[in-house]
Amino acid sequence: MRIHCYGGTNKPNLTLWNGKVKEWTEAFERLNRDIYFVLSYGESIGAPGYLDVIDIIGRHPNWECCIITNLKESPEKLLASQLAKDKRVYIAGCFHPLGGADWETFKKHILMVRDADIKVMAGYLFYPPQIDQWKEYFKWFDEHNIRTFVRRYVGEYEGKKYPDFYSKEVRQFLRDICEPKVIKYGLDLTSPKGRPCLASKDMILVHYDGTVGLCADVPDNYICQTNIFNPNFKLNDNMVYCPTNLCGGDYGLLHMVDGEFGDLPKSIWHDCFNAQVENLTGGGKEKVVYPKREKMEKWLNRT
Ligand code: SF4
Repeated sequence: MRIHCYGGTNKPNLTLWNGKVKEWTEAFERLNRDIYFVLSYGESIGAPGYLDVIDIIGRHPNWECCIITNLKESPEKLLASQLAKDKRVYIAGCFHPLGGADWETFKKHILMVRDADIKVMAGYLFYPPQIDQWKEYFKWFDEHNIRTFVRRYVGEYEGKKYPDFYSKEVRQFLRDICEPKVIKYGLDLTSPKGRPCLASKDMILVHYDGTVGLCADVPDNYICQTNIFNPNFKLNDNMVYCPTNLCGGDYGLLHMVDGEFGDLPKSIWHDCFNAQVENLTGGGKEKVVYPKREKMEKWLNRT
């Protein structure tokens, strides 16, 4: 993993891959189940060990992988992998203009992914100083039939707390582009505390050194007290009750039970969360369907 994605350009690149291909392979094989990997919290494409990881996942036909990436590096080698040939890899390309991303490079690389017939989305953080530019970026993605999603920013900017400080119009746009569960927990920040959740049973957070956490929003090792390299490591048999007040991760929300939103999805990618739809559409010649496109465009096309 190398860290050079968001949070500005002054973060050092760290290489945290330990090179233990056999140990990683055996650790996940011991779980003895279908696995949907999400490579995130640092840039993996082009990092040392990344092709080893792609190869490990590619060698297991019931394993799939979604890569959260800034697409700074060419996806060429990924697209030549078994994982890509089998269409078991998905790309969530996150564009951060203020994080040092180059628009031309991003466009070139995301088109390579789209043209290889790999499911792809483009994500954008509504960090206050980069909200206004979104209209132009969205236009390009839309013209190229690439689905987009927008994430609210949680934190401070110029002494103001977000997402609370978003204008009424921006909040409405977020409501129009996001899925209802994201609005409730991600934008309105309803507390998930006490809700049943499949974290630790069907979803775990595995760090570069094998330590296992419940999810991205709960302090590490809260429930999974062991390391995935430990041969006795086991997933929990039962759901947990959420111990924290903010469920910000979209994958987390996909595993948290709230009857208001119906059954939990059986397949993560195909219930693509941020983007309102059960099945990804768009790509190639196919136009992206946004259920609330008309409302979205009202804000996008404001003068
Ligand atoms: S995924 Fe969300 S609901 Fe589940 S434990 Fe983590 S924060 Fe709580």
